[in-house]
Amino acid sequence: MNDTVKSIATLLKDLDGILLFPHINMDGDALGSCTAVCLALRALGKKSYVMINEPVPKNLDFLECGCSTNDDSVLDEVQLALMMDCNSMNRIPGREHAFERGKLKGCIDHHMSKSTDIRFDFVRTEPKAAATGEIAYNLIKALGVPVTLDIANCIFTAITTDTGNFQHSNTTARTHDIVGHLHKIEGFNSKEISALIYDRKSKGALKMETDVLGSLNYYEGGKIAVGRITQDLLKRNGCTMDEADGIVPRIMSIDGVEIGCLLKETEMNVRASLRSRAYANVERVAAGFGGGGHILAAGCTFEFPIDEVEKIIVVPLKDALKK
Ligand code: 5GP
Ligand code: MN
Repeated sequence: MNDTVKSIATLLKDLDGILLFPHINMDGDALGSCTAVCLALRALGKKSYVMINEPVPKNLDFLECGCSTNDDSVLDEVQLALMMDCNSMNRIPGREHAFERGKLKGCIDHHMSKSTDIRFDFVRTEPKAAATGEIAYNLIKALGVPVTLDIANCIFTAITTDTGNFQHSNTTARTHDIVGHLHKIEGFNSKEISALIYDRKSKGALKMETDVLGSLNYYEGGKIAVGRITQDLLKRNGCTMDEADGIVPRIMSIDGVEIGCLLKETEMNVRASLRSRAYANVERVAAGFGGGGHILAAGCTFEFPIDEVEKIIVVPLKDALKK
């Protein structure tokens, strides 16, 4: 089943009380897409909120636009619970109950891997969309809502962050077409939004980046690079994990690296961010550990110490180089 954006817009017009769900460890695409759609639904006079249960990353603080809440009781009735940029209950931990409140359940996403743990009433999956923000933009147009400056900023953030600032191979003519339209919105300034996203790093975050890049472990003659962010490293530099955002692209900028892996030690587990330059399928590696994502960018979570995680994950990463 893959519903059309038009049919979803028609359905949305008849609903009220809509909760939108970005994935855990929200990124610019997840939060930007949810907020853009939330603002569009509000413009149609509907009650709508973005349901979160973790702090918004510092560099995305301008995306909230008064839409996010961690309390689903703001809505007496939830006619629709809509996941954006994810499609599975394990991507919204701690918010399952709020999602279950939706009389209807929907999903708008650009990830290939599909979960079977939810019976969605509608699904729109576009694996070729560079960002869920592209689908969100088309949905807002189909709703007939004018794109305001706040909506434009949300969509731009979704697209610039998921395309590595238009450098990744997921960037298409449609990506640029949509951003071209955003440039026509009064007051829109891509430079300003880019600076908010990318140019507000703390000195500690830059020091941490240097520490990680200076202690990478290389495998297979430098084709695989593995970095680590431990709790100790965060404390030493006075950083939070969301400040590690820019490190993976730096790993991928190293000549000869085909696969980059950044292991992030949280208080509960270790999360792996995986990237592939061109041909290795890291989605398959992540899926082997219960995670997912895209062929060239994926992630998964481990419940054991970071040293062991590195030993375990390099085995399938080496295999991925051969395929
Ligand atoms: P990142 O490394 O930036 O956290 O994630 C890269 C891509 O993989 C994103 O599209 C993200 O949504 C996806 N991803 C990361 N972790 C997981 C996971 O545990 N499960 C699934 N299904 N996707 C993930
Ligand atoms: Mn995305």
